[in-house]
This record gives sequence, structure tokens and C-alpha cells, in this order.
Amino acid sequence: MKLHEYQSKQLFSRYGIPIPRGRIASIASEARHFAEELGGHVVIKAQVLVGGRGKAGGIRLAKTPKEAEELATMILGMEIKGLPVRKVLVDEAVSITKEIYLGITNDRAARRPVMMASAAGGVDIEEVARVSPEKIIKVYIDPLLGLRDYQARDLAVSIDLPRSLWRPFMEIAAGLWAAYQANDATLAEINPLVITSEQRLLALDGKMVVDDNALFRHPELDEMRDLDVEDWAEVEARKFGLSYISLDGEIGCMVNGAGLAMATMDIIHLCGGEPANFLDIGGGASADKVAAALRIILSDARVKAVLFNIFGGITRCDEVARGILTALGEVETKVPMVVRLVGTNAEEGRRLLAEARMATAETLLEAAQKAVAIAKGA
Ligand code: GDP
Ligand code: MN
Repeated sequence: MKLHEYQSKQLFSRYGIPIPRGRIASIASEARHFAEELGGHVVIKAQVLVGGRGKAGGIRLAKTPKEAEELATMILGMEIKGLPVRKVLVDEAVSITKEIYLGITNDRAARRPVMMASAAGGVDIEEVARVSPEKIIKVYIDPLLGLRDYQARDLAVSIDLPRSLWRPFMEIAAGLWAAYQANDATLAEINPLVITSEQRLLALDGKMVVDDNALFRHPELDEMRDLDVEDWAEVEARKFGLSYISLDGEIGCMVNGAGLAMATMDIIHLCGGEPANFLDIGGGASADKVAAALRIILSDARVKAVLFNIFGGITRCDEVARGILTALGEVETKVPMVVRLVGTNAEEGRRLLAEARMATAETLLEAAQKAVAIAKGA
């Protein structure tokens, strides 16, 4: 789960990281009011869950409260990379002498978190990583020991920070690590961390991604979730406890078990098709869960055929068949479906579906071939 900039920065500030004074507004007149409060000179920042807002025109400086209102009106009407802007952050403007990058993520290959810093921070950091990766300095964090002082000092030295800023930099690095660890984050990033004209360090931007599988330990973070800007299908899937990931292909997949779902996607590929999604309905899926899953699959307009691959163990095939029929009663669709059912109560399940005139298959290969042929219009 991604947090908005304002949420990330508020969280960072609880770990001692200095941030600008700011307020969040959802209508332009509020922005004007907050700009007055903050002394007139502010930056208006679109709160959307994508990077590159600056380059897209979603970050603008205002010199007066009136200008703040005008810019807020404009930004609140924008879409950035397909996402509508519903809120703007009104931050007190800062005069910048240097932009630094500081971030932590998990390095799977190294099997530990990595902290990265660069003197070339700001909106072009992706380009820096691509063209001159040596400008990004890394230290690996032992998860049991945590970030050590010497590591943070190494980073401060490597990015040529003036000596007077080593101490505050180390405090910010320690705060970022604490925020990352305590909240089960998979990313915590400050870009830019700026040196102001008064020679202070300040986190101007903040980005945090929290591990969804750890959210049960952080109900206060779960409450920050912005349903408004999330994909409907993913919100719905979470509600029903389904693992759903939308992909680009044309064959919708409904499978019980993550491994079987992966194998199903592979077989679709093998037969010359492309899966539209990954979907694991889990063990013991009830009819209403199956119905929800089918609604989600069919909400994707690119889907030209649906392939059901159910291996009945704990999950009973007749129960799944009833779920499919329930869903078909609710959602009107012309999308053809191919079903492969094996295992517990498979015969009963197949009988129910045959009555509904759905194509059934004996083997997974046969099912995948049928689904691909249908999707290609054969
Ligand atoms: P992003 O483009 O989504 O990463 O948004 P950022 O919050 O990082 O802002 C993009 C850029 O806007 C920063 O790199 C800064 O150069 C600039 N910026 C943001 N806030 C201020 C500010 O208060 N004053 C000034 N002068 N520039 C700012
Ligand atoms: Mn940024």
C-alpha cells in the first residue's frame, strides 16, 4: 500500500525528520486560507500516488494567497498519469541550494534492506540511476543490528555533505530507518532532501510503501488507505480475501491456489495466449467468493474468454460451480467461459455447469487451448 506524500511526511516527522510546515486542502479556497496562514509564499502539490508530479505540472510555487488559490484550482482539476487529483498539499515554500536523494528499500538479492543516498537528488533521480549509477551510494543494513552510525556517516561523506550537516543527516537517516522498520515498509524515500539557504536539511518530498501483508499489525496505517484512487478491482478483491493482480492479456483466469494459478498462466502462454490477470480464490472458496471473483474478472473490458481451473481438494467443485452460476445470474455477459474441474465433487460440478451450457474440458491443456482459440475468435 502506497502512502500519499503528506501522509509519508507526517509519519517521517514523528521519527524526528524535519519537514516544511504544511496543510492539506481539497478545495481551492482552503488553499488560499492555508497560504495566508503560512505567510503567502507556498508550494501547491498534487497528492496522487505516482512519481513525476513535478514534471507533469502538479507541483507549483505561489507567491501570494491569491495565486495559491488559482494554482490549486488548476491542479485540483488535473489528472496525472490517469489519476485524478483530489487533494493538494500546501507547504510553506523553501529556498533550495541543493537536492539530495535518500531512500531505503529491500534488496532481495542481498537479502537485506539497503539505504541509498545521492548528491544528485531531485526529479531526475531515475535518469541518474540509469546513466550514472555510481552516483548512488549504497549501504546494506543488517536487519538485526539496524542502521549503524558509521554507515550513515559514510553516506554523508560519500555525497560530499558539508561537515556541519553530518550530524543532522545522521539523525534523518536513523529516523528514516526507524520509520521503515517500525511500519513494515518496503520503501521509504525522501527525494529531495534539501539543503536550504539557511544551511538546514529538510525533507521536501516523502514516499512510503507499506507491505500489505503486515497491515494487520498497523490498523492506523490501514485507515490511511485512499480507496478513492485505488483500482476498483483490487479494492473489491481485498474485501473478499482474493489475491488478484491485473495483467495485460485477454484471457481471464480463475484458479484455486497460487501455484496452480501460475501454472495456468504458463499454459495459456504456451498455447499462444496472454492471461488478463492472476487470481487465486484460495482454498475452501464459497459461492459468494467465486461470484465476486467472476465480477472482478469481467470488469476488465479486455477479457475475451474466461478460463476456470479448479482443483477440488478442500474447495468443492460443486460449490465453485454454484458460485459461477450465481455470478452469471447477477452479471450479464457474453464472454465465453471454459471450465476445467477435477477433484472433490467434480462430477456434480460439471453437471451443474453443463446445464448452463458452459464449455468444459478434461485436462488443463485442452482447457487452455479452447480458451485461447475462443479469445482469438476461432
Ligand atoms: P515529484 O516530482 O512527484 O517527485 O515531487 P517533489 O515533491 O519531489 O517536487 C518536485 C520538485 O519541485 C523538487 O525536486 C523541487 O525541485 C521542487 N520543489 C518542491 N517543493 C519546493 C519548494 O518548497 N521550493 C522550491 N523552490 N522548489 C520546490
Ligand atoms: Mn520527489
